[in-house]
Amino acid sequence: MFCLRPFLLLGVSLLAAAQAPRNRTKRVTSHEHGTAAINIAVETFGAVVEIEAPAEGMVGFEHEARTAAQKQRRDEALNKLRTRISEMVVFEPLRGCRFTVRKAEMVQHAGEEHAEIHAEYSVSCSGPLDGTDIRFGVTKVFPGVASVAVQVIGASGQAGATIKNDRGAVTIPQ
Ligand SMILES: [Zn+2]
Repeated sequence: MFCLRPFLLLGVSLLAAAQAPRNRTKRVTSHEHGTAAINIAVETFGAVVEIEAPAEGMVGFEHEARTAAQKQRRDEALNKLRTRISEMVVFEPLRGCRFTVRKAEMVQHAGEEHAEIHAEYSVSCSGPLDGTDIRFGVTKVFPGVASVAVQVIGASGQAGATIKNDRGAVTIPQ
């Protein structure tokens, strides 16, 4: 399934969000089922991580959860986002990074037939992250998400990659 509808996402706003969470601008990107976007703003001993994805790939539907079974599926997806983030975004183990969940929600826009998952985390680490690799396990946790567009913004530059089926890594610029 593929729908090129303009959808609000973050990304450019990430650095701004890291510094001033209440003052974010949004950019327009596509809403493509089976994909996700992960934006990572790296600070010296930590990062802010945002995940945005069409709900279809993580929950299995995008309409409002009405039945008990639908609510359970939605809650299971949100629970994975809350409890398995360290399997989905994997920092260098020696850096001892710990995630704190800021937000994990299914966002339904009034009058829209599509919905998104949005999650935000802060990460604090015991050593500097510059120059280390980030690996990914989103497809392992959510088999309905096969492709993840990753953007990393560090103090000295940006890096990005499209991670398919959890293969590959992104090196944090130093
Ligand atoms: Zn959709």
